[in-house]
Amino acid sequence: MISRERVLEILKEADVLLEGHFLLTSGRHSGKYLQCAKIFQYTKYSEELCAALAEMFRDKNIDVVIGPALGAVLMSYEVSRHLGVKNIFAEREEGKFTLRRGFSIEKGQKVLVVEDVVTTGGSVKEVIELVKNLGGEVAGVGAIVDRSGGKVDFGCDFKSVISLEVESYEPSDCPLCKQNIPYIKPGSRNIK
Ligand code: ZN
Repeated sequence: MISRERVLEILKEADVLLEGHFLLTSGRHSGKYLQCAKIFQYTKYSEELCAALAEMFRDKNIDVVIGPALGAVLMSYEVSRHLGVKNIFAEREEGKFTLRRGFSIEKGQKVLVVEDVVTTGGSVKEVIELVKNLGGEVAGVGAIVDRSGGKVDFGCDFKSVISLEVESYEPSDCPLCKQNIPYIKPGSRNIK
């Protein structure tokens, strides 16, 4: 079991927590943004966090780990490595998540769905549907960071390495907009 202090230390060392003025995917604004992909720049950090998550699902007899591309490709690989099982990723084709590259899920296989950050859980829910449509059994959902405050319901066991609530605002109530600070859309090349 990894301590909350250690997780926060890793997020700080990997410079994951950005400060500024951000437009989130939800349309809300925030003064903070988690650039979780930065964790995976460093194998020692991704190994430590993914091992902690993998241990939470050790007793579930997972057959396959899957994550939505691109954000969870490396995470899926690392979690599966700790469990000693197969890993694949789902990617969008004409807007819908699908399996390409000859990836497959067999009927009845126990599948762990992983995602680096869960806010509303939209992508995860789509991947869960994909797994079910292929005949797989969703054994759980695992995230590095849960930003939902435990509010997301995937209809299965959901575990995260850390729960972090980051304050966000409707654009009309945003204190940073009121100070005329320009916002940026995370993921754009403006982010250092
Ligand atoms: Zn704003």
